[in-house]
Amino acid sequence: APRIVWLRRDLRLDDNPALDAAAASGAPVIPVFVLDPTEEIGGASRWWRGQSLAALDTSLRAIGSRLILRAGRSLDQILRAVAETGASHLHFNRRYEPAGLRIDAEIVTEARRIGLEVHEYPGNRLHEPWALKTLKGDSFRVFTPFWRRLAEQYRSPQAWPKPQQLAAPAAWPTSLPLEAAAEHAHWSAGMAAQWQPGESGAAGLLASLDGKIGEYGDARDRPARDGTSRLSPHLAWGEISVHAIWRRFAAGNPAEHGFLRELGWRDFNSHLLYHFPDLPKRNWNSRFDSFPWAQPGEALRSWQRGLTGYPIVDAGMRQLWQTGWMHNRVRMITASFLIKDLLIDWREGERWFWDTLVDADLAQNSGNWQWVAGSGADAAPYFRIFNPTTQSAKFDPDGDYIRHFVPELAKLPGHHIHAPDLAPASMLSSAGVTLGRDYPRPMVDHAMARTRALSLYQNGKPQR
Ligand code: FAD
Repeated sequence: APRIVWLRRDLRLDDNPALDAAAASGAPVIPVFVLDPTEEIGGASRWWRGQSLAALDTSLRAIGSRLILRAGRSLDQILRAVAETGASHLHFNRRYEPAGLRIDAEIVTEARRIGLEVHEYPGNRLHEPWALKTLKGDSFRVFTPFWRRLAEQYRSPQAWPKPQQLAAPAAWPTSLPLEAAAEHAHWSAGMAAQWQPGESGAAGLLASLDGKIGEYGDARDRPARDGTSRLSPHLAWGEISVHAIWRRFAAGNPAEHGFLRELGWRDFNSHLLYHFPDLPKRNWNSRFDSFPWAQPGEALRSWQRGLTGYPIVDAGMRQLWQTGWMHNRVRMITASFLIKDLLIDWREGERWFWDTLVDADLAQNSGNWQWVAGSGADAAPYFRIFNPTTQSAKFDPDGDYIRHFVPELAKLPGHHIHAPDLAPASMLSSAGVTLGRDYPRPMVDHAMARTRALSLYQNGKPQR
């Protein structure tokens, strides 16, 4: 009897334990993906998913197989596919978000009832989120000891080879055309220009990382440089195995270590979400629950559109909108600005990122937003408020990142590009910039906003 491989956030053939096990059984293999409307994902992610499924189908066809695409509740669709095909086994790689865990548990229960054998394999993390414990046997709340434990205990599993051929069933079950998954977010043109969703795009980025990993430590904070891997959306969709990345760079130079440490953060946030499923909704530190957030309104829209009057913030928000991705340093600056300068609840920012990031990932997004807000586990202390102007001068010293994404300021020289409102009038006019017309004045005075945020944090509930 055939075996169903249910693909979810593991859209790759190589180093895929569920697929490898099904292929190794010698039985016919039916790869299935379900578009489940109960799993809410953002617009940029839907665009990515459509592209990635098309790439996966092409790769499957090259080894004698194809992707079966269904739409509806996962439980119904998987059971229906089992009934239609007479499949004896269901294979999948685990996922760890609360909604997915719930669905998977339901399916396991139902499978038992109907005598379907379910084989689960570890998802795309260095460790299962429940595997690492403190000496006291608790889950971790602090990154450094978590990372130390992870790095000590981690052993790369043997690679699961890419199947050379997949046995096809005598008859394929019905499938939606792949176009049913194709979504053209109305803003997707910039994303399409920047990214190649799918396994081969990921492999290309991994290969190009060889040349830049040595400088990662210095380059990773420079948004104008292509100093990071840009693997995040590929990791979010499981188009590349995290073990494959580790294997490639594990041999000990400190810069490479710094890169692997970031993968450690990815596991850490998954660990947090697993043990605190409310991470996307509730402050980890409940003292923030009564923080007097401002009404989002027009201020939120100015931030979303990159019209705050702070060039580094605006460059970041426009990079996000245009390409579906934002440099990590600038994510921190823009997030801090929303929360601390505009006093808008971090959940509003989280929601916008969720809709617009191609790498949107529940654990990473909510964990990082809470980190910036100061409300999270092992977060930045609440009094750490990023100064957008000094951050900009430090990390984009020549202003090249700003010039690229905020072209109306491109002619401003040197350090004036970080704070156009402080530039001499003559300089502004020779750069062709009239503030308030070509580019907004700062929507809030940072020094005032900083004092205001600090006094709210200190006088309001969230004292520490
Ligand atoms: P690299 O520097 O090349 O790092 C390699 C990999 O390590 C990344 O692909 C990613 O998987 C992981 N990583 C790096 N930094 C972090 C981090 N701070 N936390 C967790 N994992 C990390 N990342 C997401 O994948 N999805 C999100 O939804 C997301 N939302 C974020 C929201 C905010 C407010 C902030 C400050 C950060 C967020 N990040 C998120 C983390 C980080 O910004 C991105 O992972 C990183 O910019 C991706 O670029 P890269 O692949 O070139 O990273």
